[in-house]
Amino acid sequence: MRIIDIIDQNISAGSCQFTFEVLPPLKGEGTSRIFSAIDTLAPLGPAYINVTNQREAVKTEFDAEGNPRRRVYRHRPGTVGISAAIAKRYKIEVVPHIICGGHSRYQIEDLLIDLDFLGMHNVLALRGDGMKDERGFIPHPEGYAHADELVGQIVAMNSGRFIDNEVEDCHRSKFCIGVAGYPEKHKESPDMESDIARLKAKVDAGGEYVVTQMFYDNSKFFDFVRRCREAGIKVPIIPGIKPLSTTAQLDVLPKVFSIEIPEELERAARKCKDSDAVKQVGIEWATMQAAELKRAGLPIIHFYTMGRTENVARIVKNVF
Ligand code: FAD
Repeated sequence: MRIIDIIDQNISAGSCQFTFEVLPPLKGEGTSRIFSAIDTLAPLGPAYINVTNQREAVKTEFDAEGNPRRRVYRHRPGTVGISAAIAKRYKIEVVPHIICGGHSRYQIEDLLIDLDFLGMHNVLALRGDGMKDERGFIPHPEGYAHADELVGQIVAMNSGRFIDNEVEDCHRSKFCIGVAGYPEKHKESPDMESDIARLKAKVDAGGEYVVTQMFYDNSKFFDFVRRCREAGIKVPIIPGIKPLSTTAQLDVLPKVFSIEIPEELERAARKCKDSDAVKQVGIEWATMQAAELKRAGLPIIHFYTMGRTENVARIVKNVF
């Protein structure tokens, strides 16, 4: 089923479901850990599951003479394979993420063809971030600088237009495309207005719904939705929540994702005597956020798990 149809069904029925994202296993890890993380949440009835796509990383190695060599490797390969394995095992819709970073448009086309063969027609189209040793995001020479171009490629494929030629009698892939939005503005954007204008371009290119970056203050999400609507973005906007689970995240999350942690949450977490108490604070905060979003009529609430699903399970049991 297309994700937009699941969202629309919930909107029509006035109901709300949860979704969550998982990371592909580390190279060599196998599937048992990811399946056991999903086992915790699958019985609670998620609407669908997202699978992230990690771009390659770099490592500097030294040869016998001590000369540095830049080695590129992939920590978490296998987004397509693990997405198909999850769909088969849990009989649930899976949304693999597709990123521009590190990929040519030809590789992206191959990946989309694989997904089509597997019967998987939902994707989240993203640009991805720059490599750690690069200044900003450097597109692949045969790839894309921004997610709107990736959306354009998928839309073209949906109408039988491949990169090098049009395939007249092809069956149409009909991918449903989600895109990312930022209630606290994307870190590279000069201001909220231009970031929302860029988001509108992604939606106009064919993005059928938006999933937001994590936020800890619902008023920022509601304000973002209001501004998107004023800018003419009409598609559903799905809020993303990440339960705080360690005090280290109080510093890491704002730095990495360019978001703010409310003072009240930070104070409560810093007062905790041990890690279990921090997790509990995170669960209570995310429960409060999700309950308010559900009351506000949101059709889906998306959870970032970063591999931890027990806390999300407790929040889901509290709210849904
Ligand atoms: P874009 O839409 O290209 O936007 C990036 C920046 O460029 C923004 O500042 C925007 O305002 C600006 N911009 C957009 N279009 C244009 C244009 N045409 N011209 C000039 N400027 C423009 N990363 C991963 O690596 N793997 C994942 O699996 C992953 N999953 C994610 C899931 C969600 C829900 C979210 C919110 C983010 C995810 N990310 C993931 C992170 C994401 O890749 C980064 O935030 C990235 O920096 C931006 O991606 P984007 O798709 O929003 O890019």
